[in-house]
Amino acid sequence: MSTVIYPSPIFGPIKSRRLGISLGINLLPGDGKVCTFDCIYCECGLNAQRKPQSKFPTRKQVAEALQQKLEQMKVEGISPNVLTFAGNGEPTAHPDFAAIIDDTLALRNLHFPHAKVSVLTNATRINKKDVFEALKKVDNNIVKLDTVSVDYITRVDRPVGNYNLVELIDCMRAFDGQCVIQTMFMKGTDADGHSVDNTGDEYVDPWIDAVADIAPREVMIYTIDRETPISNLQKASPETLDDIVARLQRRGIKASASY
Ligand code: SF4
Repeated sequence: MSTVIYPSPIFGPIKSRRLGISLGINLLPGDGKVCTFDCIYCECGLNAQRKPQSKFPTRKQVAEALQQKLEQMKVEGISPNVLTFAGNGEPTAHPDFAAIIDDTLALRNLHFPHAKVSVLTNATRINKKDVFEALKKVDNNIVKLDTVSVDYITRVDRPVGNYNLVELIDCMRAFDGQCVIQTMFMKGTDADGHSVDNTGDEYVDPWIDAVADIAPREVMIYTIDRETPISNLQKASPETLDDIVARLQRRGIKASASY
């Protein structure tokens, strides 16, 4: 298994066709993974196999490292298109997440006012007021919703601790369109041989209904791209992803797929 652990708190910049030049911000420890999900497809590996030894970077360390990196990029003439909170787990699990968002927006405004700030979150903590309010401030609030089947979420996303899907969908709706839904579609089986295929109508139809109810700004669907900790997972085909995008678009929802 060759999963990826990012250094903390700043990594990159990474050039991607979709995002342009993205500077990564990892609020989790740099030597392991901390997440409120334990997805069987996680590119960082499974929680139990990636337990960190070190601590979360402090708010001060994040701000100083970001300031230093942005100044260096200015000198080098590299202009980021986006500052992306991602990395080794769930960014909102950091106890100072909301304050770090404020610091990041201030540094972005000072150095590269045209760059966007994106947060990739699994949405498990959007029911916390400070997290919810912080996510409303960023340009791209990208929240995970792989399905609306609690059984599937329990087997595939594997929440750590309490998980209330109905409450979280209510919170997504309360973003009032200031969110992007991100969904992983895949096929294959888990380690016990159970199907993890969420591309059939029994999964897609209720998921589309929930998405229409949430009314996000946009939906981004994707499939497995790199090596996963569980080996029997399979990519959803481009045709399948395109079909789901078309179904969303017919409901008036802006959507795109990455293969
Ligand atoms: S939410 Fe993201 S970081 Fe967390 S386990 Fe799932 S894929 Fe990995």
